[in-house]
Amino acid sequence: MKKKNKIIVLGGGTAGWMTALILATSWKKYAVDITLIESDKISTIGVGEGSTPALRRFFEHINVPESEWMPECNATYKCGITFNNWSRKPGFENYFHPFPSELDSRYTPYFFNMCHKSIKDKTVGPHPNQFFLASYLAANDLAPLANENFPFLSTYGYHFDAGLLGRFLKKKAQKLGVTCITATIEHVEKNTDGYIETLVTKDGESFSADFFIDCSGFASVLMEKSLGVKHISYSKLLLNDSAVTFATSMNNRIPSQTYSSALSCGWAWKIPLTNRFGNGYVYSSAHSDAKAAEQELREHLQIGKDQEARHLKMRVGRLEKMWEKNCLAIGLSQGFVEPLEATALLVVQQSAAIFCQLFERGRFTSAYKDEYNLKINQLIDGIKDYIVAHYVTNTRKDSSYWLDNNCNISNVSDSLGSILECWKSGSSIQDELMKQKIENIYPAFSWYCLLSGMGQYNSEDIPTASTAISNINKFYQSCSLNYQDHRVKLNIPY
Ligand SMILES: Cc1cc2nc3c(=O)[nH]c(=O)nc-3n(C[C@H](O)[C@H](O)[C@H](O)COP(=O)(O)OP(=O)(O)OC[C@H]3O[C@@H](n4cnc5c(N)ncnc54)[C@H](O)[C@@H]3O)c2cc1C
Repeated sequence: MKKKNKIIVLGGGTAGWMTALILATSWKKYAVDITLIESDKISTIGVGEGSTPALRRFFEHINVPESEWMPECNATYKCGITFNNWSRKPGFENYFHPFPSELDSRYTPYFFNMCHKSIKDKTVGPHPNQFFLASYLAANDLAPLANENFPFLSTYGYHFDAGLLGRFLKKKAQKLGVTCITATIEHVEKNTDGYIETLVTKDGESFSADFFIDCSGFASVLMEKSLGVKHISYSKLLLNDSAVTFATSMNNRIPSQTYSSALSCGWAWKIPLTNRFGNGYVYSSAHSDAKAAEQELREHLQIGKDQEARHLKMRVGRLEKMWEKNCLAIGLSQGFVEPLEATALLVVQQSAAIFCQLFERGRFTSAYKDEYNLKINQLIDGIKDYIVAHYVTNTRKDSSYWLDNNCNISNVSDSLGSILECWKSGSSIQDELMKQKIENIYPAFSWYCLLSGMGQYNSEDIPTASTAISNINKFYQSCSLNYQDHRVKLNIPY
């Protein structure tokens, strides 16, 4: 690249700072000038406190160790998510979606085969919690990092304070040479071909660049408002469009998992940080008003009236294209599925990383725009399908919300429909994912955990503890001895 390329990132939420850091780190050797513009009048969304294991790769990429960022962001480790009360089937009232460990490969084929066999025989199949190390770690509040003498790797995610993480990332980005400007953009100037040239404030201050990254949150200031890229709504399949949040105090022990509890019109998250729990109720405003949702969450958390709640609106769906002309959308501006599997930052990370590769391969032109759009759209649609599967397979009948979700089974995508058919016929979901080339979005074990965890068997029996299962249990219990108490690992005194 001969001339110095100038890139403007619009928005200083987690998406903006992560994107700026990924670009600045990846293109250190090139003459790229990265400026981030954030408004002091429009606040960041201020939620988003759980991650997938991908976030670990982000910190590795920007060369920041856990010992530096975790204490600054009140961060904890995450082994996976417990889903409570999503199913009413006896024996399946809750299940755990684990992050995988190398040890899991020992029993995963057995687990898959047991699922296939029980479906074909119309008997009750296994509960997923028995087969994965992470569920044992989470059940005992253990951190997912093994002692030195135990040579099996576990993947894990994190919980963190969103506000503190934003501040931490900003500091790091500025150190890497990203220029930060405080301004509120009111107007966008384009050339005759419709390419963005300049961002202008109310006072006429203007900022020009060769390429723009829209990280302006749900406002989607550049992609949707200025370039007119269409937003495709997922609201017919994903009914939740609102959230109410509270912080609550921390107990003595620090769990190493997120809790997702189904309530009457949505679900509530509980996320452990080092100093508090973050809680929120994601619900459908067509089924509950804000006041009733707030009251239901208060009762669920057993908190009094004096504590103030925060209410939020969410827009579920994605843009038709993520890269249009000389602009890219990353973060809430590109779309949002819903926070059930805490995947939003994974999409941010993948979007920025794949853009870096393709923009560089195209010699800093838009040559690979179509390939990019296809990849990112597939990623977001794949996540959407996995999340939709939670709703359409629920067995609750206690509110119109859960019944309406259940009715959506006939409206799912062809891709999800084929996966569910595979499960019902007791054939390999792994083969189906490979056929559809989507095994890297949610791998087979995640689908088996979800469907078996919801009790999707043709039998009302409760799973029994066979000798084989008791042995697996004993094996994982003894493996767990190689892991430390979560609070101790985090260096937080009891
Ligand atoms: C209820 C809920 C729960 C969530 N939970 C999770 C979770 O557990 N895990 C997860 O990964 N994600 C979660 N998310 C998503 C996560 O919060 C976001 O993906 C993440 O915070 C990134 O947001 P953002 O940076 O795109 O947008 P924002 O945080 O909204 O930032 C937008 C930025 O753009 C700036 N801006 C906007 N307009 C202008 C303008 N005109 N001029 C200048 N600047 C402007 C603002 O000042 C701000 O800096 C959740 C979201 C919701 C709604």
